[in-house]
Amino acid sequence: MVRIDGSFGEGGGQILRSSLTLSLVTGTPFAIEKIRAHREKPGLLRQHLTAVLAAAEVGGATVDGAVLGSTSLRFTPGKVRGGEYRFAVGTAGSGTLVFQTVLPALLLAGAPSHVTIEGGTHNHAAPPYHFLARTFLPLVERMGAQCTLQFDKYGFYPAGGGRFTACITPVPRLTPIVLGERSEITTRRIVAVVANLARHIAQREVDTAGGMLNWSHDTHVIESTRESIGPGNVVMIEIATHDVTEMFTAFGQLGVSAEKVATTAAKEAREYLASRASAAEHLTDQLLLPMALAGGGEFTALKLNMHARTNMDVIARFLPVRFEAIEHDGYVHVKVTKE
Ligand code: ATP
Repeated sequence: MVRIDGSFGEGGGQILRSSLTLSLVTGTPFAIEKIRAHREKPGLLRQHLTAVLAAAEVGGATVDGAVLGSTSLRFTPGKVRGGEYRFAVGTAGSGTLVFQTVLPALLLAGAPSHVTIEGGTHNHAAPPYHFLARTFLPLVERMGAQCTLQFDKYGFYPAGGGRFTACITPVPRLTPIVLGERSEITTRRIVAVVANLARHIAQREVDTAGGMLNWSHDTHVIESTRESIGPGNVVMIEIATHDVTEMFTAFGQLGVSAEKVATTAAKEAREYLASRASAAEHLTDQLLLPMALAGGGEFTALKLNMHARTNMDVIARFLPVRFEAIEHDGYVHVKVTKE
């Protein structure tokens, strides 16, 4: 039984989700206390509870403490089974985080899976669906995974109601990859989505971000959709090289101008462009777990935040891996090796 203190380091939801994933994949039971102790509302919110229940269903696990608000949990996994699954967050809570929790176990299961996720698809402080599809998953596929995503409907805070599906064909193992210094940029796009909102919001966003990055109009993409229960707006700035597609996101909010939203995303993109790293902040913390499962890997990171360092600690509690971070001029070289 691995014992996890949910208040260490970042003290957020990732400690729980990584523990669930690793418990499923390794078959190791765990007990966690002080779940999300550093968050304003500690304990299991709907999104975390959905992730716990999803992990339990996929892995035939026994769970104690799986109720809303719970700050401790015991999770004993059984056998992971591929199959037909539907996980609904039930609020606008992030569905992509629920998906990422069960994905590694299903990738390595004994049978294929078809997974439907309902809830938030584009949430603040979580990977947007498009980040999953264009940034995260292609790298996990390069490690050998086989997963096809299909997007159905946007789910924005607070209405939620989004949906996407995944077809997963399991593989025996993942294999290490190496992402060196960022290579020549092949594609640049500024995508502004407005769901049930005026098109001029998206226009102002692509104009603002395009101006800040000095990118021409042919990089601007506006998507105006009614395929969403509620209103919503997101700006996604994509920068692709042969090896990796990075994405910088900001969300429209009542009382925040379209220009300000676009500026937030464009500043992050500029910071990335000024470095030689392949992976920006969010991809960095998300790559650690698949790399550890692959038994190794290397990449160049823009920075290692507390989130990533905390994730390293959790992963090393379940798997015999070592993480090294070597500072270079313009990036941090992250190495994952078997102990
Ligand atoms: P809490 O800590 O409140 O429980 P949480 O459950 O959302 O929040 P966090 O621990 O904050 O969990 O983890 C959020 C995850 O979402 C991290 O893996 C982070 O990299 C990812 N993420 C956040 N913002 C973005 C973004 N803009 N693009 C891609 N990924 C993101």
